Amino acid sequence: MQIQVKPLEEKGEKPLRVSQAPAWQANGDAKDVLFEGQYRKAKAKGECPNTRAAVLIDGKGAGSIFYLCQTEKCEVHNRVTRYQPTPQEQAQRKREALAERVEKLSRVRILEAIRKKLPDALSRPDLEMVALDYFRRLGHDNHRRLSNLYAWEEKKSKTSWGAETVDYEKIAAAAVQAMKAADLHRFLVVCALRGNPSRKTRTSRGPQRDTRSTCQRQQWPFE
Ligand SMILES: [Zn+2]
Repeated sequence: MQIQVKPLEEKGEKPLRVSQAPAWQANGDAKDVLFEGQYRKAKAKGECPNTRAAVLIDGKGAGSIFYLCQTEKCEVHNRVTRYQPTPQEQAQRKREALAERVEKLSRVRILEAIRKKLPDALSRPDLEMVALDYFRRLGHDNHRRLSNLYAWEEKKSKTSWGAETVDYEKIAAAAVQAMKAADLHRFLVVCALRGNPSRKTRTSRGPQRDTRSTCQRQQWPFE
């Protein structure tokens, strides 16, 4: 589709001048000429708010009009061409990657520090915390099964949207606090058996696969 320059100029629109020659071939006097790489072609006028009319000044299509966009971060046209990150953006990404590595490392160090400081025997509050955290990770189905097993009284509570639910974590917290030390130990073992991902590995489908699907079903935290 070729539109000529004249009708544009009659409308007061002065097209930008674009050369098809490589930029290095341009002489010093080509200051008002755009070269490949200095603009992106637009399919039509108004494709983005910054499209401008341009005219080819050389080559096969000399004299033909098209529309281009020169906006660096144009939402429309910088997505069409392959995006090249600026040096600042590359530096920013490097900084972010470094920060992420440091964070992972420090997490490992924190765990290491905790591990070294753990006492020989867990205190009662620590043990309760571990048991309840374990219970929480077992997921709703197991909560219901354990609640049945322990014959906990399932008081229903209303959710904010009016439905009735059983808050198993709250019930378990009260039950755990009331347990004797030996019962708390047993509870922990029961949670472990309930949450053990290798529990179902003796089926025909093979251990690997079953372990993984069981982990997903039970929201096993350590996979
Ligand atoms: Zn644009």
